[in-house]
Amino acid sequence: MSLTSAELHDKLKFYFGFSAFKGQQEEIILHLINGNDAFVLMPTGGGKSLCYQLPALLMDGTAVIISPLIALMKNQVDAIRGFVEGHDGIAHFLNSSLNKAQMQEVRDHLLAGNTKLLYVAPESLTKEENINLLRQVKISFYAVDEAHCISEWGHDFRPEYRRIQPIVKEIGKAPIIALTATATPKVQYDIQRNLGMLKAKVFKTSFNRPNLYYELRSKVNVDKEILKFIKANEGKSGIIYCLSRKKVEDVAEFLNINGIKALPYHAGLDANTRAANQDKFLMEQADVIVATITFGMGIDKPDVRFVIHHDIPKSLEGYYQETGRSGRDGGEGQCITFYSHKDIEKLEKFMHGKPVSEQEIGKQLLSETVAYAESNICRRRTLLNYFGEEYTQDNCGSCDNCLHPKKQFDGTEDLLTVLELVAEMKEQFKSDHIANILTGIHNSIIKSYNHHELPLFGIGKDKGVRYWTAIIRQAIVQHFMEKDIERYGVISCTKKGLEFLKNPYTVMLTEDREFAEVDDDEDAAVVASQRGGGGGDPVLLAMLKDLRHSMSKRINLPSYVIFQDSTLEDMTILYPVSLDDLKKCQGVGEGKARKFGKEFVELIARYVEENDIQRPDDFVIKTAVNKSLNKVYIIQNIDKRVPLDEIADAKGLEMDDILNELESIVSSGTKINIDYYIKQTVDEDKVDDIYSYFREEATSDSLQDASLELGRGYTEEEIRLVRIKFMSELGN
Ligand code: ADP
Ligand code: MG
Ligand code: ZN
Repeated sequence: MSLTSAELHDKLKFYFGFSAFKGQQEEIILHLINGNDAFVLMPTGGGKSLCYQLPALLMDGTAVIISPLIALMKNQVDAIRGFVEGHDGIAHFLNSSLNKAQMQEVRDHLLAGNTKLLYVAPESLTKEENINLLRQVKISFYAVDEAHCISEWGHDFRPEYRRIQPIVKEIGKAPIIALTATATPKVQYDIQRNLGMLKAKVFKTSFNRPNLYYELRSKVNVDKEILKFIKANEGKSGIIYCLSRKKVEDVAEFLNINGIKALPYHAGLDANTRAANQDKFLMEQADVIVATITFGMGIDKPDVRFVIHHDIPKSLEGYYQETGRSGRDGGEGQCITFYSHKDIEKLEKFMHGKPVSEQEIGKQLLSETVAYAESNICRRRTLLNYFGEEYTQDNCGSCDNCLHPKKQFDGTEDLLTVLELVAEMKEQFKSDHIANILTGIHNSIIKSYNHHELPLFGIGKDKGVRYWTAIIRQAIVQHFMEKDIERYGVISCTKKGLEFLKNPYTVMLTEDREFAEVDDDEDAAVVASQRGGGGGDPVLLAMLKDLRHSMSKRINLPSYVIFQDSTLEDMTILYPVSLDDLKKCQGVGEGKARKFGKEFVELIARYVEENDIQRPDDFVIKTAVNKSLNKVYIIQNIDKRVPLDEIADAKGLEMDDILNELESIVSSGTKINIDYYIKQTVDEDKVDDIYSYFREEATSDSLQDASLELGRGYTEEEIRLVRIKFMSELGN
């Protein structure tokens, strides 16, 4: 079959209403129509579907389109039927969701030769009866969409995808077009080898998405930060990805309570709710969808303006795909990721129990993600480098690292050291091993290779493992060294690296970024108190601290008993001017507001007035009620004088959880009396000592300080119990 470019454009206009092809679509389509295999690598939103949809409509016979998601098939089939009016038989799907009658209908259309596109799930393709059916049909070509599912190195490996080639052979030969947005060289090779199309022409579009903005943030007060971000981007539509279903539910609820139209989406919801939520998002009845990664594959909403990762993804492929769902129309797309090393540890834990080879791959993919997150190099450059593409611009102008560049330093010497070491070792090793040698770490692997006897062992002790890891990473990005992904990331020098060793020149490098290590699951008050200096308005903060200080002298109470730092910081963000407003700040309950609040809100009111400050009065953060269910239960049982350990048992909590709850209860100003329990469990003299420590000596409520000051004889639990008593009696 042959078509001219003009004819092809006519067909494009006729079927899809577009007047021009995007990127390489035209070449790809012509290539396929002429009976050749094609391998298409295009970023998400690049327009891959059209590369098989249009030829399917034009060519003789039925195109078999293998696609992993059932929900997605229905969408695509509906879309095609929408394009080609009056031909219901033109597109069908074959998957496990069909009943007998529907199945028969598909069968009839297929055998009558009406069907141009048949979407098939890979597991349906492997069924004997379907193979037999398809053997009676003329196949125009096979399209393998989301082809990275073939590779274990892709982010979404599906074993059934591995069986495509033998089945295609059984049904009957026809050209194959494989399409994916995941294009590390390793995945690309896996796909081509597995589909037996190593010789296929590869169409690779640049993976750069110039309209996307990439940013990584410390995962501190994450829900609140997300809320702030959405409020600042009111009316725009966005996706928030979370790792667990529970988080999805929590975040969606939290946003709704705070006036954002957000819907949850995860595999645990029943199919109807899921479909309804997805539709509402597409139809713009909801601004935000909060989802696990099951959401979004093939979803075509062109104007998604932001993608937020509440939790770090497991791989850079996943990250790239998910962020890629923003700004498909070429407009704004902000990609914000919240990162904490704790999340990485969680992900590593999830891997335990999986087969060893899978764990190895998983760890390797994860370490790439860590490297990306912690690096100070341009995000775009790192991503493109990962996908085997060179990005030469110095400053992309649209990532956090380029907008806020870190100071560079002359890294020539250290780069030489690393290269020298790598070149010297006979075998190849991974990045962490090399960093460990330079830092002089004595571990079992190093000893087993006698690497502690290398002259360079410990030469960079003062700089630390993190530093050396960063140097190695930058050496890779700048192509002085390379990483063999297939061999689990072992590192070797490139030609450029070896030449640099002989004739060095100045190379500038940066250190890695530091991320605050706070878990978002912790109590908000605790989190904020660890945040340190995070307030909104430094001038006001200083004034509030002065007020607290003078008040503390006047009423003879430690400052922290009045309001904690985190509370003052909140005041500089929320600008409360009434006692009711004040209660919206962390750690302020009814009692505290009444007892200490008046002077604070008066000061703030004056400050707001004098400085003409716009108060964010609609920006009030509310938290879900059910979170406080435990609190209510605990308070009720304390009233009944139930021992705390029994309360813990009854609720399936640890003593630690109970103490956390109690601390948060008293620090927000509610009085509780746990004397009955203290009497039973803590020696009376000790109670006096601890109490007077907090009353007379302490300059903060820090547990560590208390423990140091009081010495060995006092357990953490004892100190905490008395501290709760103290805070409750004096502060509330
Ligand atoms: P991918 O599968 O590569 O992520 P899609 O096939 O879902 O991308 O296409 C992304 C968007 O681009 C869709 O909204 C689609 O309608 C649109 N699109 C595809 N080809 C063209 C074209 N030639 N002109 C205009 N829009 C197009
Ligand atoms: Mg697609
Ligand atoms: Zn950049």
